[in-house]
Parts: sequence; C-alpha cells; structure tokens
Amino acid sequence: MSRKIKIFDTTLRDGEQCPGASLNIEEKLEIARQLTRLNVDIIEAGFAIASPGDFESVKQVAEKIKGPVICSLARCLKEDIKRAAEAVKPAQRRRIHTFIGTSPIHMEKKLRMKPDQVVQQAVEMVKYAKSFCPDIEFSPEDAGRSEKEFLYRIIKAVIDAGATTINIPDTVGYTTPWEFGLLIEDIISNVPEIKEIDLSVHCHNDLGLAVINSLAAVRAGATQVECTINGIGERAGNASLEEIVMALKTRKPFFNIETNIKTEEIHKSSRLVSNLTGLLVQPNKAIVGANAFAHEAGIHQAGVIRARETYEIMTPESIGLKESKLVLGKHSGRNAFIKKLKGLGYTLEKEKLEKAFASFKKIADLKKDITDRDLEAIAAEEIYITEESYKLDKIEIKSGTTVKPSAKLSLIFNGKKKEAKESGSGPVDAAYKAVQKIVGQKPKLVDYTIQAITGGTDALGEVTVRIKKDDRIYTGHGAHTDIIIASVKAYLAAINRMVSLKS
Ligand SMILES: [Zn+2]
Repeated sequence: MSRKIKIFDTTLRDGEQCPGASLNIEEKLEIARQLTRLNVDIIEAGFAIASPGDFESVKQVAEKIKGPVICSLARCLKEDIKRAAEAVKPAQRRRIHTFIGTSPIHMEKKLRMKPDQVVQQAVEMVKYAKSFCPDIEFSPEDAGRSEKEFLYRIIKAVIDAGATTINIPDTVGYTTPWEFGLLIEDIISNVPEIKEIDLSVHCHNDLGLAVINSLAAVRAGATQVECTINGIGERAGNASLEEIVMALKTRKPFFNIETNIKTEEIHKSSRLVSNLTGLLVQPNKAIVGANAFAHEAGIHQAGVIRARETYEIMTPESIGLKESKLVLGKHSGRNAFIKKLKGLGYTLEKEKLEKAFASFKKIADLKKDITDRDLEAIAAEEIYITEESYKLDKIEIKSGTTVKPSAKLSLIFNGKKKEAKESGSGPVDAAYKAVQKIVGQKPKLVDYTIQAITGGTDALGEVTVRIKKDDRIYTGHGAHTDIIIASVKAYLAAINRMVSLKS
C-alpha cells in the first residue's frame, strides 16, 4: 500500500531569503493563496523575529489563509519563540519551527556552546514553544555535518520534550543521496520514538543534489519534505517542490508514495512566484521551464503526434499547462478579465483589480491579442504598487541619430506631482537619471534585461532590473508595448521596493 508524505513549503521563508527576492506583504499573501490552491500541507510564512515586516507578513498569512498549517521559524531563544507564537496565533492550524546548530563547527564557532548546553537549550525551548502551540517542529541545524550519536541524543530529548516533527536539514548542501538516505535510516533505527511523529528533511542545492537527497530520504522513511517553488532559496536554492512531487507521481510504481499536491496548479504557482520575485526560470528547468514540454526534434515530434507516450513521460496538462491560446482583446469585458486572472492564480483586491482592468484596456488599444503572459505582467505590476509608491505620470522621450537623447518625466508620490528633465547616453539612461533626480537616490543598476513576452513587433516588452543599495539587491519588473516605459516602470518598481523594505 502506498503511504502519504507531507509537503512543507518554505518559498516565503527560505525562498524569500535569496538575493533580490524580497517580497512585500501583498505579494506574500498572493503566493500563500496559490500555495493553498496547490494544497501544500504546511506554509512556512517567514521568520517572525527577523524584522517588523516579517512579523507582519507571517501574521497576515496566519489571519487570512485557511487550510494549510501556518508556520514561523524561530531560533532556540525565548524572544524568537514568543514572537513566532504571536505571529502564528491567528491561524486555524499553527506551528512553531525552532532550530539550533548541532554540528561541531556550529556549536563551537557560532553558538560557543558545549554539546550538553545545546541539548539543554533545545529541550527548554521546545517545552517553552509547546506552551503556546501543540504543533512543534525542531531542526538540528547543519545535521548533515553533525555527529550521528549526538543527533540521536538531541532528537530523543526534544521528542520527550514535546516536538511533533523532527526536521533534518542539510543546511549547506553537502551530503550525497547515499549518505543522506542512510542518515535517515540510522535515525529511524536509533531513535524508534520518531516513528510516532513526523520525520522531515530540508535539502539545499549547492551540489545540485537537493531533490535527489530529498527523494532518497523519503525512500528511507522520511514523512515530510521541505521545498520551494522553482527551487528558489539561498545560494543555489532549496529542493524544488515541483520536481519532487512530479518524480513521486510519475514514478509512482517505483516510490509508492503520494502527496496531497494538486499538480494541475504547479505551472501557475511557478509563474506566479517567478513574476513576483523577479527570479526568472531557466528555459530547460525540469517540469516548469519553458522548454520542459517542447519537442523540437522532428523525429520526436512525429512520435508525439502519433502517440504522446513515445517521448512524453508526463503530460503538460498534469501540471496545468494548457495550450495558451490568445484569450482576451479590446472588447473583452470586466468579468472575462477577472475570470481569466483568477485562472492564472491572481486574486487582486477590488481597487487593484480596477486598476489592472484599466491598464488591460489601455494595452488592448495598443495590441490586438492579449495573452496569458501579458495578463500576468499586468497583474504582477498592480500587486506591487502601494500607497507610498512612486508612480509614473507622464514621460516624453527624444532620441535618434541627430539629437542628444533626453527624457522629460513626471512621477506621482503621495498624491504630489514631481517633474524632471535629463539627458543621457541613450533614452533609458536619460529617463533613469530623471527618476533619480526626483527620488533623490542613486542606487547602482546591477542588471537590466529585456524580453518580448510574446511574438510580434507589437508585443509587450518585459524589463527586469536589479538595483543595489547598501549591499542589498532589489528587483523590479515592468511591462509595456513601449520599451522605454517598461524600463521606467521596472526601475520604479525596484526603487519602490527599496524604499518600502528599508524600514
Ligand atoms: Zn534552508
């Protein structure tokens, strides 16, 4: 008989920690809603004590998202646990996830504690967390490099103290599938109490082994996997949810393991996370890359046309990828627009929806066919904008072979209009200088990419920029049929992010 494992999604915590992925509360809620449709078992919504913004977003997710267990991370410290408990309190089902380093290097260098002290601290803090909430997860950080005997000891102690899930993280992405599978087997046979609770794994992708390590652990008896959409996360990222889930599904007879995931929501989830974080998915990425289901070679195409199974081990429909035919145009009404956006995973609030509809109408005037990708770009832009955002009011550009490129633009900020005119080496340079003048900041532009969202010369141009200020990276996205306007929108989005996340 097959057994079921839990999917613990940490896109909003570990995923959001990667450079440039900073999300605002609205964006986090939008992702949490989609994770709920994807039917993940647990959402790790953030690290409540990290900042007031983190606390607030965990709290909002706990208040507004019904279904999955909502979890906050906390170090094995009283203040951390208290903060996490407060943040997840409104949730229907809540969890506190607490961790402490257990490898010799973490204990000696980072914590400056003796092994006995580490065990004592872990036990006390699990008991303390238990006073707020029945569902407690404990992670021995850097378990992959910890001494096994010590791991058994601390795991046993925290289970006695009330932990209901033990998570084994390969924090630095150092282990191989053979070692990691064996570690899980050894834990199960040396700490038999663990069979009564959940045994989880959390793998990092530094050697490209996060998914295979997770699968090896599941085969060895793990009952929960921690992962992120598109595998985003610190450094090389976390194990990717879609790869784990689809491997288990496609190779069901081999693994004999199931998850609760509604796989038809995978494609939508991947697009949403990519759009909101600005982290593009590589075209050849397994499952969710743009080419994952594209059969290019003629001989393959011929086979697929006759019988799909010849070269297709899973169908595009199984991840919710439908032939993206053009759907909306100039004459499409509000209802069709709302329905389509919902279908793409966006549930904008009323005011933002109206604004998105207005920009849809404007774009429909410039461009005949509006595709899913166009709509995603329009919606993603609206989610980001808040009251305290700089908004583009007007822009006028001069460029060509006979004039010095210049830009005259006005921005609206807190209801007031501000204007500037600048010249530069090209129209984008001139426009960015004008924006800098109004905003009064000169963040360094570290990356600028432009791509046509769809084919045709009337396509929306999608610009992604990364700017750097005080060692932090902020990403911004903008789309428009006019690439200069798209460039300014992307730059403003990044600047707004910088301004709002600074606090
Ligand atoms: Zn991690």
